[in-house]
Amino acid sequence: MEIEEAKKLWTDRIQMINETESLPLFECFGRVMAEDIYSEINVPSFPKSAMDGYAVRSSEIVGASKDNPVVLTVTEEIDAGDVPGYKHQSAASGTWTYPEKSAVRIMTGGMIPEDFDSVVKQEDTDYGEKMVSIYKAIPAFMNYCPVGENFAKGALLVKKSTLINRGIIGNLASAGIGNVKVLRKVRAAIINTGSELIDTGEELSPGKIYSSIGAMLKCSVEKAVAETVMLEICPDEKEKIIQVLKKAFEISDIVITSGGVSVGKKDLIPEIINELGGETIFRKVNIQPGTPTMGCIVNGRPLLALSGNPYAALVNFDIYYFEALAKLTGCDGLAPKEGVAVIQSDYKKENYHRRFLRAKESFGKVEIEKDNKASVISNMAECNCYVDVPAGKTYSAGDVVNIIRMPET
Ligand code: AMP
Ligand code: MG
Repeated sequence: MEIEEAKKLWTDRIQMINETESLPLFECFGRVMAEDIYSEINVPSFPKSAMDGYAVRSSEIVGASKDNPVVLTVTEEIDAGDVPGYKHQSAASGTWTYPEKSAVRIMTGGMIPEDFDSVVKQEDTDYGEKMVSIYKAIPAFMNYCPVGENFAKGALLVKKSTLINRGIIGNLASAGIGNVKVLRKVRAAIINTGSELIDTGEELSPGKIYSSIGAMLKCSVEKAVAETVMLEICPDEKEKIIQVLKKAFEISDIVITSGGVSVGKKDLIPEIINELGGETIFRKVNIQPGTPTMGCIVNGRPLLALSGNPYAALVNFDIYYFEALAKLTGCDGLAPKEGVAVIQSDYKKENYHRRFLRAKESFGKVEIEKDNKASVISNMAECNCYVDVPAGKTYSAGDVVNIIRMPET
């Protein structure tokens, strides 16, 4: 089976989460919108000056130049935050209008009075306080931020199921929206199986290794719209794994296991899935490393069973997990980004399977790591993508290859 088919078959079986929560805006970054939000105001809600200068009627300064300035009366100063005309007695009754051949001193962000249609920047004047000489003719709406320049009242600011980025936070903040309904976090359970595994803080003894997969997956999970509700190391003992898996399915939306999916005597996951009444949707996909990776559905919930070799676990996690996450949240754009790059050295190994090689990409040039063994992760810190090599395919330096960016870089 090909990766694409495996992904589709598995994710087609995954249901979207519906529960939502209302959060203060600042806490919504990186979460998924649970509602459409429309602006209730124009932003800005008044015409704003884009410059420090003088608000004028463009029709009154036609032909103005340094040699032939137009002189206007300065009736008031409007700083950012001021309301025009408030200094004038008649303004209180709403009757204040600005006399002909007049201007107002205005600062950036100040409200441009209705009578004026343009702002001459102060460098094009004599900086006059009572009378000002305008040295430059400008058209209407120069240095003028119109009402609704950012967006108008009623504009759709963000759609349901969108991943909330900084720009969205900015729009919502400028529309005065302080609370947002988002999808609750996806709950992920991570179980690392293997009787050889110990956790950081424990003392290393012969035959044991520190588990590295759990820590890496937890970071990836928590970087993207999810939380880790369980992170456990479990020995290769059937009853124990079953017990932990049952608990995991009670508290999570998706379960990720590592280890025990191959064909060894202690590779217990396939039979445990059967015993739990789970369905294996894919296994033995055309991919190396991680051919034994399994995508299952157990009691209606997705389970991704990764192999224990850390690099194999990571690649397959990146390939499948984010697609499942997209399905759980209804939010596209969570899957690692695909692209192309020019390979910098020959790759002449003909692989039996489609192969994912860790690599480093920069400005369209990609360098494959020399050590691509499934058991090695010591060079992963340097890598930011995988090169997707079809079975049997070789490359010469300068060839264009398909790459998939690592999600956490
Ligand atoms: P398995 O898929 O269980 O056959 O494991 C394959 C290899 O990966 C073995 O050498 C394991 O010791 C190693 N391994 C399994 N789980 C982990 C883990 N969580 N962290 C690091 N290495 C692991
Ligand atoms: Mg094992």
